Amino acid sequence: MNESTKNGSTNNGSTNTASEPARRTQPIQADHTPTEQFASELAEYVDPNSTGSPVDPNSTGSPENSGDSDVKIRCDACPIRCFILPGRTGSCDRYGNVDGVLTRMDPVTVLQRATERGADVVPFALVSDSWSGEVVRQADVFVTGTGSGTTYPDYKPAPFIVSQEVDGIDMVTVVTEGIFSYCGAKVKIDTDRHVGAERSLVYSEGEEIGHVTTAEYGSQMLSLGGVHHLTGLGRKAGLATMRALVDLCAGKPITVQVEDGAELVLQAGSAPIIDGVVDERMRVGCGSAAIGMFASQWAPHVDEVVVVDDHITGVLTEHQAGVVLGIKPSGIKLKGRRSTPGRYFEIANPGSGWGGTDLEDPLSIVQFFKPKKAWPGLTLLMVSTTGTDYAYYVLDDKLVPQPAPLPAILQESVDRVRSNCEPTMTSVLFMAGAGGSLRSGVTADPVRLTQSVRADETLVTCGGAPTYVWPGGGITFTVDVTRTPVDSFGYVPTPALVAPIEFTMPRKTYLALGGHEDSILTLDEALTEVPTQVVTADPQNPWPGDRP
Ligand code: SF4
Repeated sequence: MNESTKNGSTNNGSTNTASEPARRTQPIQADHTPTEQFASELAEYVDPNSTGSPVDPNSTGSPENSGDSDVKIRCDACPIRCFILPGRTGSCDRYGNVDGVLTRMDPVTVLQRATERGADVVPFALVSDSWSGEVVRQADVFVTGTGSGTTYPDYKPAPFIVSQEVDGIDMVTVVTEGIFSYCGAKVKIDTDRHVGAERSLVYSEGEEIGHVTTAEYGSQMLSLGGVHHLTGLGRKAGLATMRALVDLCAGKPITVQVEDGAELVLQAGSAPIIDGVVDERMRVGCGSAAIGMFASQWAPHVDEVVVVDDHITGVLTEHQAGVVLGIKPSGIKLKGRRSTPGRYFEIANPGSGWGGTDLEDPLSIVQFFKPKKAWPGLTLLMVSTTGTDYAYYVLDDKLVPQPAPLPAILQESVDRVRSNCEPTMTSVLFMAGAGGSLRSGVTADPVRLTQSVRADETLVTCGGAPTYVWPGGGITFTVDVTRTPVDSFGYVPTPALVAPIEFTMPRKTYLALGGHEDSILTLDEALTEVPTQVVTADPQNPWPGDRP
């Protein structure tokens, strides 16, 4: 047991002060104004058993101590301010009443640099359930915000402000779990299948949680969550949004329904399931790009190729690639709107047929072959942008395409289209605004933190994972959720998401910002302050403790 926990055990919860940083083991505040009705009303939407869950006696976050174990205690880690019964957790399951002491139930995740310790190159492999106390190079250890706790309403310093020496420079990392009402997820679904029209609403549990936004190259995009959905559409919609976002960011599958569109099963890092079908390949490119890539391989073996695509359908003999290769015009006349030679828009409606269109019969987009240019016996290959759908035709004496067996040499080309398609994946970027009161846990002068981040003096990480901080005002960041440690994301039923965030900077920068100098702990102090779980850092991530 560590010293701090022991100290916690001797305090029966009556002496917590506003200036005291929140730690894993907090004394109980006994003089809060009750908001029991509000908390239980919200809790019933989160957990039908509004008294929370039983405390796991094996939780690595449980302190081995005893307060007044017969009384319910008040959690002040978020605006809900749950009363928590003995042996239970609050509405979010993050805090519990362990022997009368308010306890953050999860251990703090500590990253260990993998490569220099010879550990297996496995992202976030658990090394040990707690810090062993061994002496390591300070530069090889990083305390993350995952499991660190929150300091709502940010009138006090962040849970951990850790100093350590990196390459001879005194660095400070400020570690906390932010409560984000302004947050959401941008979801990239690698598919050419139609999931729903842009601006269509996306539903979870029958509630609106986001919308389909502009498609990207080979991918459909969703924008989920955001403050409007969390707070502006009523409590049920807010909580449904919150639950969907937490599961999605935690790497769990969620099922959503697009208005007048598909049912989607989405899981970060996995292939999407669209209307019950696993979509395994993203397209090789648009129809025009496919013509460019494969024109020279098709030219010797077929007279005309049409690559069917929802956005840009390509026609070999008209396309610049075909012209440069000297391919004879076929006289084909397609439906749709010709953009430039060999590139057609709007040949059909979006759908789950050929190339992300609603086509089941590709010939339905061929109006005719011009008699002055086409000839009987002309060969035609039609193929989708994934190579999943294809057909081969030969013109008869009336210049009407007739189905014919696909020659082996063209089968190879179709197979090549397919083999050049990348596996599909669902990518989830969590996006949140950390430019509000959270900054007060870092410095008494919040805007200077924003300025420091903007000037690249301060590095922002999320559970040790790299973030992209948007230009402009505030500290609005995105992070790939698959690069964050397990269990990084939680919720409070206000509703809002909870996510780790760390600010790392040279100590002299921190002090110049007006940082909370009196709350700085050495790395050793931080590691022995609370229960930890030590994991190897994801080798894909840049080491988060390096100087900005
Ligand atoms: S929801 Fe969680 S963080 Fe908020 S008061 Fe309840 S237990 Fe504490």
